[in-house]
This record gives sequence, structure tokens and C-alpha cells, in this order.
Amino acid sequence: MEQKKSIKGIRIRTVNYSMIAISAVLYVLLIVATINASKEYKTMVTATDEYIDSQSYAAQIADGSNYLTEQIRLYVMTMDPTYMEAYFTEANVTRRRENALENLEQYLVSDEALQFLKEALSYSNELMEREIYAIKLIALSQGGDNDFPAVVREMPLQPDDQNLTPEEMVEKARKIIFDDSYQDAKASISNNISYFVSSVIDSTHLEQQSTLAKLKNTMSTQTMFISFLFILNLITFTMVIVLIVRPLQLYIDCIKEEKQLNIMGAYEFKYLALTYNDIYEVKASHEALLRHRAEHDPLTGLINRGAFEQMKEFFKINPCPLALLIIDVDKFKLVNDNYGHETGDQILKKVAAVIKHSFRTQDYPARIGGDEFAVIITEVTSNLQPTILNKVTEMNKTLQNPDDGLPAVSLSVGGAFSTQGFTDSLYTEADSALYIVKEHGRCGCHFYDETEAAES
Ligand code: GH3
Ligand code: MG
Repeated sequence: MEQKKSIKGIRIRTVNYSMIAISAVLYVLLIVATINASKEYKTMVTATDEYIDSQSYAAQIADGSNYLTEQIRLYVMTMDPTYMEAYFTEANVTRRRENALENLEQYLVSDEALQFLKEALSYSNELMEREIYAIKLIALSQGGDNDFPAVVREMPLQPDDQNLTPEEMVEKARKIIFDDSYQDAKASISNNISYFVSSVIDSTHLEQQSTLAKLKNTMSTQTMFISFLFILNLITFTMVIVLIVRPLQLYIDCIKEEKQLNIMGAYEFKYLALTYNDIYEVKASHEALLRHRAEHDPLTGLINRGAFEQMKEFFKINPCPLALLIIDVDKFKLVNDNYGHETGDQILKKVAAVIKHSFRTQDYPARIGGDEFAVIITEVTSNLQPTILNKVTEMNKTLQNPDDGLPAVSLSVGGAFSTQGFTDSLYTEADSALYIVKEHGRCGCHFYDETEAAES
């Protein structure tokens, strides 16, 4: 539990919420930048449209003005009313020149530019007055202006012209619309319009420049946010791999191999691994305990009959040279009868301890019955009989000279050797050797001998 409390690590929840928060902020900023960029783009498009429109209005003014000049000139030259009608249609209905001028007035330009426009307008009005005056003179030269439009009729005749002959009136009318001052007025209109348009172009250009600079800024901000989002994505992927995917893969491998888990990854995985490892340890120790209980004799701690049988099977499959000893406590019933069952148990424990102490760690002592023990001595051949006999003698000496208050006991031991592991007959051979010891006064050791067996 202490270990779990001290876990240090990044929590998946924290990473998740942080990434969501950072992404949300970045996306909002990106959306704001995109809205700004589209506004700036629109401003630029509007400025460009105004520039194009101003060019088109300038062209309309020139076309309208030239058309009026052309019609009025044709009229004063031919006196054909069709041209006059065309003139008035252009001047009063189509009104290209006036409409274009009115449209240009809408532009937000400097006062100086507006002045050019006003001048152009006043030249235009002046020109129109001249033209109408020319029409009036033609009308009068033809006998009167009663059938002419009101503007012609209402146009006052200059005192100097009142006494002109019809021919002189025609000549004056032609002079008015062909002389240099007429041309100058036309040129002034066109110059003023040019100045105005170039000032519109200048302001449009400035507007475009500043909008373009803003657009560039906004776009680099967008690029920056997109880069941040890209980096954030990379960080997220890396964190997912390091904190989640890799630990998961390794944990699954460990679980398959029934191993403890490495403490790694996010806090949650570390917590999971520690919990798993705790359960794993409890389970492993529980299993070890169960296995120990299943394989060992609870009184003496030696391996039990079942485990001894398994050991036999093991040495049948692995045929190394070995010896089997069967050890039986002599007259043990008497111990029980004379000293009680509990003392009998103490004796059995002592006998087990003595046997265990007398043999090597690679030998296997077992309790195979009430007062009966067995030892599988590995990697030995019959030439080690004297050594084993010595061991039995030593064990009997110990048991017969107790210093712990327990009654003295002795052991009878029967042994048999095999060079090919645990053979089927080995147990019977050792048991028959034990029988011989029991028959010959107990407290001793005898090894099975084939020839001796054949004789008996
Ligand atoms: P022998 O010399 O012929 O072996 O004589 P013995 O009296 O030892 O005879 P045997 O080996 O047949 O008797 C074994 C006795 O061991 C019988 C039983 O009462 C006793 N015994 C078996 N298991 C236990 C045990 O767990 N505790 C105790 N105290 N006695 C046991
Ligand atoms: Mg006995």
C-alpha cells in the first residue's frame, strides 16, 4: 500500500484533459485567425473591385462625353433632329457621364481627390450648357425653339446673339462646340477624372498594401497555430505510445509468461502493475504453500509418500546411478506404548532430522509410512556401500545415545543400488535387504545382493 501511495507518474486523465484544453485553445485561436484572414481577404477584394470599378467609371465618363460631343457635332452640322434626340437621350436618360460621376463620388478618398471630381462635374455642366446653347442657336436659325425640349427653350439667348442672322447663328453654334475652349473643357474633365482615378488607385494601393501585410501576419499566425497543433499531435502520439501502448504490450507479454509486471508507463498502469504484482505474490506464495503441503509430511517436514512416488517416476525417466535406502524404526510400537503417542511423534521428528542431516542436499529423504523412511541417494554406485554403512552407524549412535530426554531408538536400513535409475525391482530389493536386518536383530544396515537373494 505504501508503495502504491508513493507512485510517481503522469496520469492518463491529466494528459487527456491537458491535451483537450490546449487543442481547444489552439483551435479557437486558429478559427479567430481564419475569420480575420477572410475579413482581410474581403477588404482586399473590395479594394480591388473599387479600383476596377473606378477604371470602368472613368471609361464610361469618357465614352458618354465623347458620345454627347459626337451627337451634338453631327446635329449642328446636319441639323438632323435624330442626332439631337440621341443627344438628349444620352444626356437625360442614359446619363453615362453623370451616373459615373455620381458613382465615383461614393468613394472614400481624400478631399483633394474629391476636388478633382467636383471640377470635372462643373466642367461637365458647363459643357452641357454650351451644347444646349448650340442647340438653341440651331433651333432659332430654323425658325424657333417651340418644338424643342424645355431646357432649350428656357436657355436665355445672350444679348449679343439676339441680332444674329440664321446663318450666323448656325456658324456660332458650330463654333461653340468645335472651338478650343470646348476642347479644353473636355480635356479638363478627362484630366480631372484621371487625377481622381489615380488618387483612387493610390488609396486602393495603400489599402491593398496594408491589408496584404495584415493578411500575411494573420497567415503566419495561422501557420504557427497549425504547427503547434501538429507538434501537439506528435506529443500526444508519443505519450500514448510511451504511457499506454508500450506498457500494455509488455504487461500482456508478462501475463502470458506468468511473470511479475514492470512498473512503467502512466500512473494508472504503475498502480495496476503494483496491484497485479501484490496479487501475483500472494497467489505464488499460496501456491507454494499448497504445493509444499501436498508434497511434504506435516510431522517431519520430509517429502511424503506421494512426492516419493513422483521422485521414483522421475528417476525412472532419468537413469542416473543411485541407491535406495528403506529405513524403519525398530520396535516403534513399544515407544508409543511405553512413552505415549506424542513422544513417538517427537522420535519420528528426530529420526527425520537425523536422516536429513546425514545425507547430501542432492539426496532425497522421504517419510513413506508410519515409522518408515526412504532415501534416494543420487550419483552413487555400490562401491560407496562402506560410506553409507558408516552413515547408518553414526545415525544409530546418535539415536541410541539421546541427549534430549527422549527414549533411545535404533534404525534398521535396507539398501539397493542401481546403475540405471529407479528400476521396477529396486524397492523390493531394498525392502528385502531391510527384512534381513530385521531378521538379524535390527539396528543395522544391509544391502541387497543378487547372489545372496538367489541362494535364499
Ligand atoms: P519393527 O521393529 O518390526 O518395525 O517393530 P515396530 O513396532 O516398529 O513395528 P511397525 O514398524 O510395524 O510399527 C509401526 C508403528 O508405528 C505402528 C504405529 O502405531 C506407529 N505409528 C505409525 N504412525 C505413527 C505416527 O504418526 N506417530 C506415532 N507416534 N506412531 C505412529
Ligand atoms: Mg518399525
